[in-house]
Amino acid sequence: MADMRFQAEKAAHTEIPRPKRAEGQWALGYTEPLNKNEQSKKDDDPLNVRDRILYTYSKRGFASIDPADLRGRFRWMGLYTQRAPGFDGGKTATVPEEELDDSYFMLRVRSDGALLDHEAVRALGTIGVDFARGTADVTDRENIQYHWIRIEDVPAIWERLDAAGLSSLEACGDSPRPFLGSPVAGVSKDEIIDGTAALDEIKRRFIGDPAFSNFPRKFKTALTGHPGHDVSPETNDISFVGTVHPEHGPGFDLWVGGGLSTNPKLAARMGVWIPLDEVADAWEGVASIFRDYGYRRLRSRARLKFLVADWGVEKFREVLEKEYLGRTLVDCPSPETPTGHRDHIGVHEQKDGRFYVGLAPTAGRVSGSMLVELADAIEAHGAAGARLTPYQKIVVIGVDADQVEPLVARMDAIGLQARPSNWRRNTMACTGIEFCKLAIVDTKDRARDLVDELEQRLPDLDVPITVNVNGCPNACARTQVGDIGLKGQLVMHDGEQVEGFQVHLGGALGLNANFGRKLRAHKVTSAGLGDYVTTVVGNYLVDRADDGEDFA
Ligand code: SF4
Repeated sequence: MADMRFQAEKAAHTEIPRPKRAEGQWALGYTEPLNKNEQSKKDDDPLNVRDRILYTYSKRGFASIDPADLRGRFRWMGLYTQRAPGFDGGKTATVPEEELDDSYFMLRVRSDGALLDHEAVRALGTIGVDFARGTADVTDRENIQYHWIRIEDVPAIWERLDAAGLSSLEACGDSPRPFLGSPVAGVSKDEIIDGTAALDEIKRRFIGDPAFSNFPRKFKTALTGHPGHDVSPETNDISFVGTVHPEHGPGFDLWVGGGLSTNPKLAARMGVWIPLDEVADAWEGVASIFRDYGYRRLRSRARLKFLVADWGVEKFREVLEKEYLGRTLVDCPSPETPTGHRDHIGVHEQKDGRFYVGLAPTAGRVSGSMLVELADAIEAHGAAGARLTPYQKIVVIGVDADQVEPLVARMDAIGLQARPSNWRRNTMACTGIEFCKLAIVDTKDRARDLVDELEQRLPDLDVPITVNVNGCPNACARTQVGDIGLKGQLVMHDGEQVEGFQVHLGGALGLNANFGRKLRAHKVTSAGLGDYVTTVVGNYLVDRADDGEDFA
């Protein structure tokens, strides 16, 4: 730790001036914590909280937890305190504060793009049933997220996860957050390159490593070799995107500095080609730059995107090559144009002649019992396993031709549809007010009702239109890149503040990636959301040009 905090000589090497105002950049010698988050991380490596959970807090109960661990370091173990039942941010005081019970946790389990066999899926499902009041949502970072977790149960949960080869380590916090991997890695017919080995290598070398457990803020990784760019690479801190170099062949285009929330930025292409066996080294270099040069003064400016914006990609590349890799990277001349679908919904033939089946729950809402049923189906129908997707979906991998329709029917019966409507397929929602302490409005239930309503009112939509429902400005369900992006806030209605959304229209990922426009007049109450979407989409259908003009 000391080594990485004192790298002023490195800064001198690349002539990076020491700014007058300290941004808390370790490499420039600013090693004194400038806010309480930095102080907490300096006081004790957050990874150390694992043993306290196992051997102290789980035995002595919630009241024994050190507040600095509870509000801070627990996140490195994938644990957040969840919004207390009845807590509504003080708006109506439905439950007196002294009666609020906020001793429960949300727990995120990372999948990192891995293929989950039936035993792993069953373990995930039974944890939901046994410890989480049946909850088990699929998040847009390929996690399973539980609610209602008690501290006393965490050791048993970790034991089951460990047995299934899974973990919640660094699923939250200022750490290498769960990786997004292509849900169809290794099986897609049109895959450019299978990046599975590289993701495994990054995970093996760096997750749980104290050298990478104290970033300025979260650090999100995505990697895909699929031509559809199916891991939302534009919105991650570091992304490896499959490409074919004219001389060197298949490898990865390196992108850095993407992120949404406030001050959203699309990732910038570094213009370099990384071969499969050098991906982990490149990841280490970029992560190290973030750790050493990232801004630590203000949490709101601490993501990598701010450093990339200030430096520009040329300087970023120079520092990466000279200080961290010690060699020049290969230029990557031509950006690939994404092609094909990104969400993998439906039935698709694999390169080995079997099939993968993409299933859509509604807005990521799954449950422990659904996962158990999924595990039973994977086993009964002889499939290889399942992967989670960045679109809150599930893809069953390796299904024999004669098992496809029986599997599809069985999943359909439990609400996992392989042939969903546009609305069920393309609506995402973040956690929202049900469990998230930062939320302003309800999201999951609202999204489910919206899907039901739109399936009735606009059943025959012939183009995909995405709806991203978010409970606050943090954009966990990617407000800015949905066709219809919804940011939760209170809006005025008949002289009263009620739950509603600021609308962002026309956002997109992929070929025409851009942020939706925030239209001041487009604020809608939660109750009026169905009418609003019906009107906007109805107008588009009437007014669109004959040449297939898309919604954005
Ligand atoms: Fe919570 Fe806001 Fe993120 Fe939704 S967008 S999960 S409400 S922090």
